[in-house]
Amino acid sequence: MNHNQHFEHLLKRHQLKRTEARLRVLQLLVNKKTATSQPDLEEVIGDVDRVTLYRILNAFEEKGIIHKVFDLNGTANYALCSSDCDEHHHHDEHLHFNCTNCKNVYCLDEMDMPPIILPAGFKLEKLSFSATGLCPKCANK
Ligand SMILES: [Zn+2]
Ligand SMILES: [Zn+2]
Ligand SMILES: [Zn+2]
Repeated sequence: MNHNQHFEHLLKRHQLKRTEARLRVLQLLVNKKTATSQPDLEEVIGDVDRVTLYRILNAFEEKGIIHKVFDLNGTANYALCSSDCDEHHHHDEHLHFNCTNCKNVYCLDEMDMPPIILPAGFKLEKLSFSATGLCPKCANK
């Protein structure tokens, strides 16, 4: 399956109509190792206006296709989810690594995270892990 077929399947599975703009957003996100902010997407996406892009990102997040992570400047960045996510239920409990030099946010989803056991009485809704430091590219400079 090539990317486009995969994305069309993904949109269908989440009851989203297939549009060029939606496919283009998915294409841009899959090609990046790091999470991407809306302004960065705007720069490269071409013929899609800001409101449309905003709506696409919101719909994708709600449907469990992408997740939001904040960088060190407090800007929202978006990255594709694993297939465990679905509507209103995200399971992106991987480490987000914030590079202090290039300001990129990396989804380190190949790492196993330790299970978190909360004290009695706490009801968990969302869990997030984040780390700050230098990414391999910046550390080797
Ligand atoms: Zn997710
Ligand atoms: Zn870096
Ligand atoms: Zn992530």
